[in-house]
Amino acid sequence: MRRATMLFLAAARALCPRIAPQPTRRSIIRAAKSKVTKPRYATGKAKAVYRGEGLGAPSYDSAPIASSGLPDTSKPYAVLGIETSCDDTAAAIVRSDGTILGEAVASQHEVHAKYGGIVPGLAKEAHEKAIDAVVDEALQQAHLTMEDIGAVAATVGPGLEICLRVGARKAAHLAAKYEKPFLHCHHLEAHCLVARLEEQLEFPYLALLVSGGHCQLLWVQGVGDCSVLGGTLDDALGEAYDKAARMLHLSSETGGGPALEQAALRGNTTAIDLPVPMKKRKDCDFSYAGLKNALRGRVAERRDERGLSDEEQLPDQDVYDLAASFQSVAIEHVEDRLKVAFKRVINEAGSAPTLALVGGVAANAELRRRVSAVASQAGWRLVVPPPRLCTDNGVMVAWSAIEKASLGFSDEIDEEVEVIPRWPFREHAAPEPVKIAVKLASKAERATAAAA
Ligand code: ADP
Ligand code: MG
Repeated sequence: MRRATMLFLAAARALCPRIAPQPTRRSIIRAAKSKVTKPRYATGKAKAVYRGEGLGAPSYDSAPIASSGLPDTSKPYAVLGIETSCDDTAAAIVRSDGTILGEAVASQHEVHAKYGGIVPGLAKEAHEKAIDAVVDEALQQAHLTMEDIGAVAATVGPGLEICLRVGARKAAHLAAKYEKPFLHCHHLEAHCLVARLEEQLEFPYLALLVSGGHCQLLWVQGVGDCSVLGGTLDDALGEAYDKAARMLHLSSETGGGPALEQAALRGNTTAIDLPVPMKKRKDCDFSYAGLKNALRGRVAERRDERGLSDEEQLPDQDVYDLAASFQSVAIEHVEDRLKVAFKRVINEAGSAPTLALVGGVAANAELRRRVSAVASQAGWRLVVPPPRLCTDNGVMVAWSAIEKASLGFSDEIDEEVEVIPRWPFREHAAPEPVKIAVKLASKAERATAAAA
């Protein structure tokens, strides 16, 4: 092998140890590029319990601006944000000063209700059907056209690969067609950053991210710089709500979590005895599988007591009591973990800053109330975005792009856009980008189309 080639291979392996043993010239360039130009997003993956680097380390390298450019930050500009990582097709226009100009969401609860979980193929189809109308609706609400938009952003991970592609493609097409700066968005980071949109919230802060796919305590030090203090060992909190709602045959038109929350309002929180998870452990990790199984057992016991078959619905009051008891214990687990995290942050960071409660389950009023009580008892300030900005939305995508652009970062609009279904936390556990083909019109084709 020629000496130059060998040097190339050695350099590639050093830069990106997970590169296949026989890297191509293209992968070497990519590895080198990602080392130099990419922010090291330090955000956790689903169900990964990474206690890693404690309270985080700086993770943005100095990076040149991508060739898609940056919006003109000398005056306010509007960003179109597109989100399709799971089962919500969402778009929003947010101005760089934080004003929300337009927002639209098409949810898919009804599409998946009868399958007892999200079916990726159906989710993708629903995104494809909804995406154009959702983007148009956000623009119309904002009274803007694409010409007025300063930058386009899309969630590229983590999430369901075939769903991520729909939003990433749409955003890349629009950015290319209208020659706008393009920005990638990390879904979990966007959940955390949107807490800064409407409230004064300085870095660093502790974030409790509770959604359908994630349940984590994060130490957010900056844009592209947050580390995981604890994660779930099994089910996420939103996933547990959804499964509990299904066990109780609660209507899913609004989604399992909101249905269970409504049922719990009429129940007695102490009617059913359920175990609080990991009561003796003094760390920041979560576990909801045991509670879910215990609930399944109690539901079966109630059925037996009432002489009901598996198909027959329990009396309403039983359902309400089971829902209320489940919710109460699920939140007690959150309270326990928060108390540990508060102590840890004070010990390690030396101060008690602010807690941001984010992610879909943060829309739950009882969780908000009880987390607020625990935080104020410990002398912590709590910031919680309004419920519609807790569940997946386009505003958080646009806002995280504004934060990123303000630091001078943007991304390439390639013939291929990277989506990253699993976006691991540690830098050396390199993300596995999935290339998707985006056929972009050439400049000449665009000029012809514009003239026509
Ligand atoms: P994803 O998990 O795909 O990122 P979200 O961040 O929107 O999506 O979170 C969705 C999760 O939040 C679902 O599990 C849903 O049941 C849950 N959720 C939404 N609203 C509530 C609520 N009011 N109470 C409990 N859980 C809720
Ligand atoms: Mg989410």
